[in-house]
Amino acid sequence: MKIAVFPGSFDPITIGHVDLVKRALPLFDRIIVAVGINSTKKYLFPLEQRLEWLRQVFATYPTVGVDYFENLTAHYCQRIGARYLLRGLRNASDFDYEKTISQLNQIVGGGIETVFLIAQPEFSHISSTIVREIIVGGADATPFIPPEIHIKL
Ligand code: ADP
Repeated sequence: MKIAVFPGSFDPITIGHVDLVKRALPLFDRIIVAVGINSTKKYLFPLEQRLEWLRQVFATYPTVGVDYFENLTAHYCQRIGARYLLRGLRNASDFDYEKTISQLNQIVGGGIETVFLIAQPEFSHISSTIVREIIVGGADATPFIPPEIHIKL
């Protein structure tokens, strides 16, 4: 069984994340969208809220599960029997960052392979960071977030 973990903060989930998961469906038997909890990071939305949105968005995808984990992504993968990580690449700075993490995960995770999908041009400008700025700035973020979720602050 080919299980992939799609780790991220999903603070909040964007249509870029959803597109990535959709495109990865044919590659894996199961994809676990997993919120990584990093105690040093500050989040805009609480974990429960982010998980609830993920569950809503992927409710109709039979091979997609939603979960969360603390500490190392590689150890979480080993715990659930996932041999693949899924990540998206939007630009060169994503590449530089992801390259290091992927090499580390392969060592720490005992051979875990990271599968990268290049963002589609229509989504490559979308990031949770930008969406948070739009929300905090009081503008309308609906063009960037899945239609299932309604953001109230
Ligand atoms: P992190 O906090 O780990 O950066 P994010 O929730 O911001 O987590 O992103 C998780 C993953 O989704 C990353 O691999 C990122 O490259 C990918 N991603 C984010 N936005 C997009 C997008 N618009 N298109 C494709 N991939 C994306």
